[in-house]
Amino acid sequence: MNCLFVETPHERILVETGIGEKWTEKQTALYGIFREKPFAETLFEKTGYAPEDITIVVNTHLHFDHAGGNTVFKDELQITNYELNDAQNPKPKTQNPKPIAQFPNARYFVSKSEFDAAENPSERDRASYLAENWRPLRESGQMELKPDEYEVVPGLTLQTIRGHSATMQTVCLKREGLTLYGFADLIPTRAHLPFAWIMGYDLFPVETLAAKKILIPRAVSENWICLFYHDFTAPLCRLTEENGKIQTTAV
Ligand SMILES: [Zn+2]
Repeated sequence: MNCLFVETPHERILVETGIGEKWTEKQTALYGIFREKPFAETLFEKTGYAPEDITIVVNTHLHFDHAGGNTVFKDELQITNYELNDAQNPKPKTQNPKPIAQFPNARYFVSKSEFDAAENPSERDRASYLAENWRPLRESGQMELKPDEYEVVPGLTLQTIRGHSATMQTVCLKREGLTLYGFADLIPTRAHLPFAWIMGYDLFPVETLAAKKILIPRAVSENWICLFYHDFTAPLCRLTEENGKIQTTAV
């Protein structure tokens, strides 16, 4: 899960927060969750900032693998040196742990449409929505509900594109003539670039197809830096077309 960090003179912005730390041992095994270190440590290594320094968190949608790090269980804030899969060093058990903001000083942005969808899921996508990832933030007043298209800061825009769901958003960052485009779950990995390769999770696969037919040619012709949220070997790529086939070059 490849989160995007954007720094401006006034804001430190995180787009997506990963799968988070609030998992039982059983769920960790079930979903095959593995990470070398907690999110906060990776954030500090990559950016030099702690969770307290983040001023804006953006979620493209509230599926648990995109918004799971929005909150943490209170006790886990004290733990900085554990490994999720380390049987010698299990996480301490807490009775009724309380989820709180992982980024205590941040405003959290999500579209109102996505928020409404998360609060009223269908049987088809209910398992992807865990309210512990957003309700504490609504209660604390940190989560702000946005329109279907909005600008986080000048040059950083979110846009709703139907396919993966009716309300998921993609992210576009423009600066100095360059475009970085985050497809979120519309095109989760490079392997999903061929038009017909579409995730089984998608609620509206034919609409995913239609969106890909518009976006991928633009990514090629405008030389976008493409961010694939779930690609674990080359999350940032440029695309070229050769004999009708899309080729990727890692950035
Ligand atoms: Zn998703």
